[in-house]
Amino acid sequence: MAEKGTISIHTENIFPIIKKFLYSDHEIFLRELVSNAVDASQKIKRLASLGEYSGDLGDLTIEVSFDEKAKTITIKDKGIGMTADEIKKYINQIAFSGATEFVEKYKDKGEDQQIIGHFGLGFYSAFMVSEKVEINSLSHKEGSEAATWICDGSTEFEIKASDKTDRGTEVILHIAEDSEEFLNQARIQGILDKYSKFMPVPIKFGEKDESVEDGQDDEGKPKYKTVKVDNLINNTQPLWTKSPSELNDEDYLAFYKELYPFSEEPLFWIHLNVDYPFNLTGILYFPKVKKDFEIQKNKIQLFSRQVFITDEVKDVVPEFLMLLHGVIDSPDIPLNVSRSFLQADGNVKKINTYITKKVADKLGELFKNDREAYEQKWSDIGLFVKYGMISEQKFDEKAKDFLLLQNTDNKFYTTEEYKEHVKANQTDKDGKIVYLYTTDEDAQHGYIDSAKSRSYDVLKLDTIIDSHFLNHLEQKGDATLKRVDADVVDKLIEKDEKKESVLSEDESNTLKELVEGTINNKNATVQVESLATDDLPVIVTLPEFMRRMKDMAATGGGGGMFMMGDMPDQLNVSVNANHALISKILKSDSEDEKKDLVKQAYDLALLHQGMLKGPDLTNFIKRSVDLTAK
Ligand code: ADP
Repeated sequence: MAEKGTISIHTENIFPIIKKFLYSDHEIFLRELVSNAVDASQKIKRLASLGEYSGDLGDLTIEVSFDEKAKTITIKDKGIGMTADEIKKYINQIAFSGATEFVEKYKDKGEDQQIIGHFGLGFYSAFMVSEKVEINSLSHKEGSEAATWICDGSTEFEIKASDKTDRGTEVILHIAEDSEEFLNQARIQGILDKYSKFMPVPIKFGEKDESVEDGQDDEGKPKYKTVKVDNLINNTQPLWTKSPSELNDEDYLAFYKELYPFSEEPLFWIHLNVDYPFNLTGILYFPKVKKDFEIQKNKIQLFSRQVFITDEVKDVVPEFLMLLHGVIDSPDIPLNVSRSFLQADGNVKKINTYITKKVADKLGELFKNDREAYEQKWSDIGLFVKYGMISEQKFDEKAKDFLLLQNTDNKFYTTEEYKEHVKANQTDKDGKIVYLYTTDEDAQHGYIDSAKSRSYDVLKLDTIIDSHFLNHLEQKGDATLKRVDADVVDKLIEKDEKKESVLSEDESNTLKELVEGTINNKNATVQVESLATDDLPVIVTLPEFMRRMKDMAATGGGGGMFMMGDMPDQLNVSVNANHALISKILKSDSEDEKKDLVKQAYDLALLHQGMLKGPDLTNFIKRSVDLTAK
């Protein structure tokens, strides 16, 4: 006997609203239905283990299949099943009221994709892709009668007895015309791979849709049956669910390959495992860092009880750790709420803090246990550490134990060690320690050379994060940082010694005017200085502050500094009063020769700074050839 009924819900027809809301996310219907099948299968297992179910459990594999001709997708489980009354209660009431509640909550926010992001709409999501849904179920309870429920997503439903003889539930989706894209082997496979790859109950999918004619129906039309080649979709015990003590390096590396088949081996990993005050497991891998690190983001996958939720972990994982790869599984992360709510969520905050601490502890441990290996990996690790120090205060506090500074001799120092290393020779006349650094060893070679001739140490700060990092380092107050070409070497670290000039004041002024007139560059400030006789005759330097702002603007950030990228370089041009070439220029009787020599000395300085380009470079080469031939 078929019973027809009306589901009592407040909103008359929620179906079109839901369909509109979830346009981009329609594929989650399969995640929801397979999750329900998984839940039902786990429940029967639990009942059996508690002795509350004494029947044969049998093979609990969930089967997903589809039939292109009949336009159906079927999800079949051997779980606890439902009686007719339970269907009425759980589906008509719970599933439908859940959907109604959802619509009420979000209907005014429909335009905001972030709100609908990821949540569980449950069973009702079947109607996003179906014109009609059938449930065919036999409860595990002894003496139960099987029941079939049919509904088209409106409030009308029909329920009747069914001839199903095996325990469990079969959900048959009659796919709507506008959703026929889902009647496709590759599409379904793709969705299952995405959401179900690590679900805890085995899932098989009919790999091939071979709909073959199988007799005729009552009206004489051909009937089809689906022949399927079964293909196991999932790994029911992914690595993060196991205890770290059971696992070795090969296991972690193999799992990494499973997650990212095309990636290079990771450097190391952290197995996360907490159950108080929130529940979280997972494995985070440190990848080898590539230049373009935007591409590397969004590689962490978020799961809730082995059901894939999203790979946008922005609010759960601190920004700097988005560069990590791996999985996080937590039933305590709310998934059906808006982003701003997620940010304010207490559990999410705690998870964030926990992960940050774990990562810091791991780095500290690696450094302590095998410093040499840690140093070797520094070029990859350094980026995380520096990024983390800049962006997370808690991490910054811990980082002094494992932050390394590398100098141009490729030696590594902790900040404390480095301070000790340079203190004696690099303290200026006001008692301030000055750290010298290079952003490009090749381009700044001459300046590094000069610094080394004074026995100064030069740090390598040449990665994309360093223009920001060095500000951070300076703010800690240990030292002032100057790039090696920020000033002439004697003034990089000002000491009390004064070099005598061989020029009179008049000569100096004449020289200054001559140089200014010849180079004719309004961004250059010319100064005559008493430098060492073995320094260059003219030296071009880039004042630290302006240059640093420009560098920061170039790598993003720095607030309103973006415009600075377009500003011309401000140069300091130091003319070495004590150099033989300068004496020669002053003594020359020919104005032309004077100008030529000044030009030559200035171009050499620009060349030294890597700034001689275009026609200036061409003219310089011609002039040099002429001078050499003379
Ligand atoms: P939720 O799973 O979040 O409770 P759903 O709308 O997905 O919400 O499902 C409503 C209820 O219907 C479930 O709580 C469960 O009791 C029942 N149910 C759904 N699918 C199945 C199934 N495959 N087997 C047994 N019971 C099911």
